[in-house]
Amino acid sequence: MKLIYKPIPDHFLKALPEGVKFVRRHQSDFLVAEQINCPRGHSLMAEVVRIHGEPSIRIRVQVGKSEGLVFIDAFWGGHAKLYNFIPDIISAGSVIKALCPVCGVSLIVADHCAQMGCKCDQAIVFALPGKTNKIYVCARLGCPGHRMEISALSHKVLAQVSKINYFGAQDNDIFMEI
Ligand SMILES: [Zn+2]
Ligand SMILES: [Zn+2]
Repeated sequence: MKLIYKPIPDHFLKALPEGVKFVRRHQSDFLVAEQINCPRGHSLMAEVVRIHGEPSIRIRVQVGKSEGLVFIDAFWGGHAKLYNFIPDIISAGSVIKALCPVCGVSLIVADHCAQMGCKCDQAIVFALPGKTNKIYVCARLGCPGHRMEISALSHKVLAQVSKINYFGAQDNDIFMEI
């Protein structure tokens, strides 16, 4: 899997929200989620399961009749995922249910995906420290739609950040026993 560098807007670099950091790979800075919580404040970071050398984001998901843990790439716009189960994907457009693996609270909220061709109206919400700032990820498997809601930044800057996808739209998911 190759990291493809996409420039990050200057305004964002200057007002980097808490819970987000930059890491240097191949002489370029990449945006990485450093601290993500459930709405009740449980950390979703999995220190031991690393993707691209960084802790991953651990959530419990339900796909069709299957359920298990998914570890998500913390690189903004990265699409690598590790499953500890085989998801029951009936059709390629499956919308998943996501829960906090600690308390079981639903991470799904109503949110229209802005990705071209995707009409999904549900997103997985990740709370950044302080709870005002949030990350929304489209709940449809395979869709790269994502956006940040950062109170100190304008919609214009956030729209630019939302367009950053490091690995293109599709990457093969990896299945492994954890
Ligand atoms: Zn929780
Ligand atoms: Zn979508």
